[in-house]
Amino acid sequence: MSRLLVIGCGGVASVAIQKCCQNSEVFTEICIASRTKEKCDALKEKLEGKTSTKIETAKVDADNVDEVVELIKSYGPDAVLNVALPYQDLTIMDACLKAGVHYIDTANFEPENTDDSQWRAIYEKRCKDLGFTAYFDYSWQWDYKERFEKAGLTALLGTGFDPGVTSVFSAYALKHYFDEIHTIDILDCNGGDHGYPFATNFNPEINLREVSANGSYWEDGHWVETKPMELKSKYDFPEVGEKDMYLLHHEEIESLAKNIPGVKRIRFFMTFGPSYLTHMKCLENVGMLSTSPIHFNGQEIVPIQFLKALLPDPASLGPRTVGKTNIGCIFTGVKDGKEKTIYIYNVCDHEECYKEVESQAISYTTGVPAMIGSMMLVTGQWKKPGVFNVEEFDPDPYMEALNKWGLPWVVCEDPETVTVWKAE
Ligand code: NDP
Repeated sequence: MSRLLVIGCGGVASVAIQKCCQNSEVFTEICIASRTKEKCDALKEKLEGKTSTKIETAKVDADNVDEVVELIKSYGPDAVLNVALPYQDLTIMDACLKAGVHYIDTANFEPENTDDSQWRAIYEKRCKDLGFTAYFDYSWQWDYKERFEKAGLTALLGTGFDPGVTSVFSAYALKHYFDEIHTIDILDCNGGDHGYPFATNFNPEINLREVSANGSYWEDGHWVETKPMELKSKYDFPEVGEKDMYLLHHEEIESLAKNIPGVKRIRFFMTFGPSYLTHMKCLENVGMLSTSPIHFNGQEIVPIQFLKALLPDPASLGPRTVGKTNIGCIFTGVKDGKEKTIYIYNVCDHEECYKEVESQAISYTTGVPAMIGSMMLVTGQWKKPGVFNVEEFDPDPYMEALNKWGLPWVVCEDPETVTVWKAE
C-alpha cells in the first residue's frame, strides 16, 4: 500500500523499521538509507524472510540535499521518515520539497556546528526575543510552512515519545477530559539500569547537549529560564518507584504553548541518578562536552564527538538493561466548571523491548511512535498541506495505534502532583 524511505539506521531507526516490517499491510515497501550502508544491509538481512515488507537499502549523505533528492527520485517513496540526526532536518525537508514527497521526523532542528556565525546571529536574536537559550527550536522548521502548503505536502514534526506521544497525550486530554487545560507537567522517567557507571541511552552528543543546557519552562505566556539542573523534584512513578527528577528545557514545550489554547504553565522533568549527574558535571568541567573543534596531535577533533567514540554505543545497551521507563503527562484544568487533574502515561519494560526488537526501551519508545506517525501520514489519516506538530491532528487514531503497536497507556484520575525545589 505504501513505500517509505527511512533515513538513518541507528537505535531509533532500527526499531521504527522493525515496526514497519511488523505492519506490512501499511508499509509494503521500505528503503533503509544511511551514511553507513553496511548497517542498513545488516538490518535488511536480519529482517528478510520474517516480513512481507520488501526492503531495499541505499547509501546517502543527508547533509547533501542533491544526494537526498536523487535518492527520493530514484526510489519514489510516498514519504520520507527522518530518523538520522536533528542536524539533517532542514536538508531533508529541502529535498522533500524539491522531490515532492511528505516528510516526518522525531526531533527539531539543531545545528551541528554551534559556532557557525550565520546561525549564531539568528540564534542570539532568538534568545533575546523569546527568552530561552536552547540550541534547538522550532522556528527553522515552522518557517517551511508556506512552502509545504504551496507544494501540497505534509511535514509531520516530532513523532517520537517526547516530543510525540506526550504531545498526542495533550491533544487527547484536551479532547476527552478538559474544556481547558491550565498546566502540563511532562515526566520522563527511566528506571532502567545498564550496569555501566556512565552511558547515554540515545545519541550521546544530542543527549548530553540537552541535559547540560539551561532548563526552562513556559509560564503565563513567556519562558522562564533556570540554570542547568537548578530545579529538582521527586516523584513516585507507577511501576518504577520513587526517583529524583530535574527540570529541563524540552522541545514540545514550545509547540504545546502554541497549540494548547489557554495553557498557563508547561514544565518538563527527567529523572537522573547521582552517578550520571556526577560524571556529566565532571566531563563538562574538563571541556569534553564542547562542540567547538580543537587541534590535537596535528588533527582537528570535536571533544563531544571524541567522547561519543569512547562511550558505549547506545545500541549495545539493550541486552544489559533491566527495569522500566514511565513517561507521561500530568494535566490540570477545568471540565464543566470543575477543577480536575489527570495523568496519562506509558510504562515500557527494557527487557521486553529487547526480546521483541533487540533494543532498549528508549529507542523502542521513540521508534514505535515514528512508525505510527508515518502510518498516520501514508494512510491519509493525518494529511494536510503544511508543517504540523503531532498535537495539531486528531489524537484518537494515534492513541489507538499506541495500544496496538506496543506502547499501551493508562489514564489515572486524581494522581499525585509535582512539587519543585532548588537543587543544592
Ligand atoms: P543514532 O546516533 O543511533 O543514529 C543516527 C543515524 O543517523 C545513524 O545511522 C547515522 O549514520 C545516521 N546519520 C547521521 N548523519 C547522517 C547523514 N549526514 N546522512 C545520513 N545518515 C546520517 O541516533 P538515534 O537513533 O538515537 O536518534 C535518531 C533521532 O531520534 C535523533 O534525531 C534523535 O534526536 C531522535 N530522538 C527522538 C526522541 C523523541 O522522543 N522524540 C528520543 C530519542 C531520540 P552512521 O551510522 O553512519 O553514523
